[in-house]
Amino acid sequence: MATATLSIDLDAIAANWAALDRASAQGVQTAAVVKADAYGLGIDRVAPALARAGARRFFVAVAEEGAKLRQVLGPGPQIAILGGHMAGDTEMIHDLDLTPMLNSVQQVTRHLEALPGHPFGIQLDTGMNRLGLEAAEWQAIAPIVLGAKPELLMSHLACADEPDHPLNAQQLANFHRMTDGTGLPRSFAATGGILLGPAYHFDLTRPGVGLYGGQPFAQAHPVVTLSLPVIQTREVVAGEAVGYACSWVAEGPATVATLSAGYADGLPRTLSNKVHLWDGDTPVPLIGRVSMDLITADISHLPEVPRTLDILGPHQGVDDLAAIAGTIGYEILTSLGPRYARRYIDRRTGGQA
Ligand SMILES: *Cc1c(COP(=O)(O)O)cnc(C)c1O
Repeated sequence: MATATLSIDLDAIAANWAALDRASAQGVQTAAVVKADAYGLGIDRVAPALARAGARRFFVAVAEEGAKLRQVLGPGPQIAILGGHMAGDTEMIHDLDLTPMLNSVQQVTRHLEALPGHPFGIQLDTGMNRLGLEAAEWQAIAPIVLGAKPELLMSHLACADEPDHPLNAQQLANFHRMTDGTGLPRSFAATGGILLGPAYHFDLTRPGVGLYGGQPFAQAHPVVTLSLPVIQTREVVAGEAVGYACSWVAEGPATVATLSAGYADGLPRTLSNKVHLWDGDTPVPLIGRVSMDLITADISHLPEVPRTLDILGPHQGVDDLAAIAGTIGYEILTSLGPRYARRYIDRRTGGQA
């Protein structure tokens, strides 16, 4: 086996969606966020699995992602574009029945002029200062917009993964102030917001990272396993260095395994000399620098040379790896590279393909 293999458990993704759906308050609909190729895991396999689990509304970042998703899902499910209605996207939005979440006065004008009667939502900025209409802008154009019947009023929390952060309650109050009395469906919570409790749920929740096994959804089923093949081994003696910059030096005789994956495959270089791989339940230290295509590990303590070692799996999830690398699980997931052989686990269709 020559290629590194990324296994993606579609049943775990479906189970995570169902769990977040149950965690959403009674009568609240649960959407699925599949932007960035379903957080790097492959929208063409992940979105149908979510649809089978019961998701009827999907969020992506930009219209091109929405176009691809429409091909995957066919007509029916709603596909919302978080980036809104950008210049040049009108035809795609119309032809593929995409629902832009309009973020600015300019986008509102563009949409209502170019596609009158075409579904849209409104994204409001309640304190994150990233995307959406500000309170004063919204107040000015709300009468016109409400007359055009938006499908959804939405906003996004900046600090939902910190339950005690004061901005959560402030944003919630702002969202109420901006949307109470409109009688329109509202959406406020992503994964973190769902866990903040029913006051944050409104009519539609929009989990992303929790579906893929990431924090802050601590009860998530793990979704990914990443197995790297050993492509060479060698014996070194005390004083010999391994890899770029001689950052690891043997203290005694050691067996070094070289594995096929590196920072070009999304294994951050900051993992150099810091992380373990796993041979089943046995930890194996990564030694030396992470190279572009290769990493090295000290397998001296193993009874035989393993065919593969896992860097993501039951003993080490995306958030564990992220913590060691100094980043977040989202970044580990969305950086997993195109060189891996992808194997999808799908018991429902009996498949491992
Ligand atoms: C990415 C994103 C989500 C999903 O967030 P998670 O933290 O991954 O659950 C929901 N809403 C918006 C606006 C987003 O940008």
